[in-house]
Amino acid sequence: MLEINNLHVKLEEEDKVILRGVDLKVEAGSVHAIMGPNGSGKSTLSYVLAGRDGYTVTEGSAKLEGAELLEMEPEERAAAGLFLAFQYPVEIPGVGNMTFLRTAMNAQRKARGQDELSAGDFLKLVREKAKALKIDADMMKRPVNVGFSGGEKKRNEILQMAMLEPRMCILDETDSGLDVDAMKLVSDGVNALRDAGRAFLVITHYQRLLDHIHPDVVHIMANGRIVKTGGPELALEVEKNGYADILSEVV
Ligand code: ADP
Ligand code: MG
Ligand code: MG
Repeated sequence: MLEINNLHVKLEEEDKVILRGVDLKVEAGSVHAIMGPNGSGKSTLSYVLAGRDGYTVTEGSAKLEGAELLEMEPEERAAAGLFLAFQYPVEIPGVGNMTFLRTAMNAQRKARGQDELSAGDFLKLVREKAKALKIDADMMKRPVNVGFSGGEKKRNEILQMAMLEPRMCILDETDSGLDVDAMKLVSDGVNALRDAGRAFLVITHYQRLLDHIHPDVVHIMANGRIVKTGGPELALEVEKNGYADILSEVV
């Protein structure tokens, strides 16, 4: 599904190298987690995959189902099936959540050569998906994320993910803003959307989220690289002993 090879990235503005040769392979149907100390480059990796400005790729590749992501515009990446749930969802006053999501969906459908969804069909689909996820669809009537509680933003994010039916979902979670209920929402959403044709990359600082999501593979990132890969037991090891032991092994 996703194959990253020897990815090197620096900041565009300064000569600061952030990713120093990331290698990562995520198979369809699987859930991978990335953990790692603060500042190790986890968020940068997700931004670069999504195509955010401000970064320069100096080496390496990132392929989504064989197609080079790094050569695509951000909207082409979304059309190709990439979805990134942001750490801090943006608020868009004056734009209804419904309009926002319908516009995003139709842009994606257009890029995929599909017909636009009519307002009626869209509404039907939102209600269906919201119901399946036990989300109150009333949230759709309000402006995008404005005045949403942390939990509502998470619900919204999961609903967006369900509507856009991405192939590769990347979730970058700080945990700091995630209470137990919000964490449960995210993990229930991920678990409900798990599918043989879809993969997840869940970035998180703490093990707690992984109690509910049950990743197949856990990676540790440090200093701009994946330094260790293992099963769920790796997350437990971090929870118990922190990163020091793992990092001293690999340096
Ligand atoms: P993580 O998500 O693992 O905490 P980040 O990807 O946010 O790590 O950051 C990795 C490193 O890159 C940090 O040292 C951070 O300060 C630096 N960094 C990332 N983006 C910027 C930026 N726009 N300007 C300056 N430094 C940045
Ligand atoms: Mg950070
Ligand atoms: Mg981060």
